[in-house]
Amino acid sequence: MDRQPTVLLFDIDGTLITTGGMGRRAIERAVSDVLERPSAPFAFSFGGMVDPVIVGQGLSSLGVTPNTDVIERVLERYLQVLREEVRLAPVYAVHEGVTDVLEQVSGLPGVAVGLGTGNVEEGARIKLERVGLNPHFAFGGYGSDAPERPALIRRGAERGASRLGVPLEECRLVIIGDTPKDIQAAHANGGECVAVCTGGASAEDLRAHEPDYLFASLADPHALAAILDGTLEASDSP
Ligand SMILES: [Mg+2]
Repeated sequence: MDRQPTVLLFDIDGTLITTGGMGRRAIERAVSDVLERPSAPFAFSFGGMVDPVIVGQGLSSLGVTPNTDVIERVLERYLQVLREEVRLAPVYAVHEGVTDVLEQVSGLPGVAVGLGTGNVEEGARIKLERVGLNPHFAFGGYGSDAPERPALIRRGAERGASRLGVPLEECRLVIIGDTPKDIQAAHANGGECVAVCTGGASAEDLRAHEPDYLFASLADPHALAAILDGTLEASDSP
C-alpha cells in the first residue's frame, strides 16, 4: 500500500526529552540577567507554551512591560544561558521509545520528520544536541516562527510538505506531543495528534482534549503504527 505523504512534527520538552526543569531555569535566569535583579521562579506552567510568550508573561508577572525590545534581549541572553545549563544539567534524558520510533521513521519515502515546538529554533537545536537527536529533524515549526502554537505548527507542516514536494492539503499531518496545546494545534491544522503522558499532563487531561491516540509513552507497541499509518482504532490506553 502506498502511504499518503506524511508530515510528522515532534514536540521537544516532555515528548522527546526531559531536562529536569533546566529549560525553566534558563529562561528565569535570562530574565533576571537582563533586568539585573535576582530571579524568582515564575508561578505558571511553561507546558505547551511558546518561548517569546513565556518570556512576555514572565516579565509581566514581575511588573515589567513586555515590549519587543526587552523580549528580544531576554531571548538573546537565554540562548547563552541555555548552552551553559544544558551542559551542566544533572537530569537530561531521552524518553523511552523515542529513539526507536525516530530510527524507524527516519528516511522513509514519503515521510517528512520535523519538529513542532514552542522553543525558538536555536534553543531547540541546543537542547537536542546534547542527546544527539538533531540529525533526525531536517526542519520544523518553532517558537521563533509565530507566537501561537497553531501558527507555528502550520509553518512546520508547510515546510514538511514542501520537502515532500506535494501541497500540504494532500498530506497527512501528525503532531506528537505531551500537552493539550499540542492536541489543539494539531486539530486546528486539520492534523492528528499522538499524545504521550511523558510530560506534565495527565492521561485524564490529555484525554479531555480528544487526542487521536494516547499512549503512556512512545515505547507503546502501537505507537509506531499510530504515527505512521493511523490505522489503529483510536486508542484509549493508558
Ligand atoms: Mg511539550
